[in-house]
Amino acid sequence: MVGQAGQLNRRNFVLGVAVAPLIACDRSEKIAPPVTALPKTGNDDLVELVKLDPGIRLDIRYATANNFTGRQLYDQPRAFLVRPAAEALVQAHQAAQAEGYGLTVFDAYRPWQITKKLWDATPAGPLRNYVANPKQGSKHNRGCAVDLSLHRIDTGQLVEMPSGYDEFTKRAHRDFMDSSPEAIANRTRLQRWMEAQGFRGISNEWWHFDFAGWEAFPILDIAFDAIG
Ligand SMILES: [Zn+2]
Repeated sequence: MVGQAGQLNRRNFVLGVAVAPLIACDRSEKIAPPVTALPKTGNDDLVELVKLDPGIRLDIRYATANNFTGRQLYDQPRAFLVRPAAEALVQAHQAAQAEGYGLTVFDAYRPWQITKKLWDATPAGPLRNYVANPKQGSKHNRGCAVDLSLHRIDTGQLVEMPSGYDEFTKRAHRDFMDSSPEAIANRTRLQRWMEAQGFRGISNEWWHFDFAGWEAFPILDIAFDAIG
């Protein structure tokens, strides 16, 4: 699983996942979502991003087989965040649009059961550093994390980034600099627009941003079709 340069080898990883479904049932633990007994604030409803801003583009990879598991995990291609995070994302989108770019969202709120499926589908070992442990839950489960990239408004094309989405290699790391100047500039643009609105990037995935204040929101396990 670890390449010669000490980095994760994508080909091996993909092959590893390809055989994972055969043994996933045996490895699957019987655990329940962590309980976060947080008071309702009245501001923690999940908001569908395209209802707040129809210009935000969706490319919900987990609603297709085009994701690192090779399996469809969501029944519906939809994206939600808690209201303050959704409103902040709209602000980031407006800043991007002013410079000729749009936001393309790959994933946002993720029901806890899906985090557990991703964990069970990932072989034990270093690859599990890239997926959230369901015992702790994920900030995606709180509706407070979003995975996204940029597209050009004039062409509609996704911009070049240093790696693909959910590519678990060093190229996905925020400090990876051995890439084209354009890819580095695009990663920096996305980070600038997101951080200006209260999101924070993480070190090993350029596409992932956490909304500041996520601790105040509970872990949820509500299916998309139950949100309305
Ligand atoms: Zn993420």
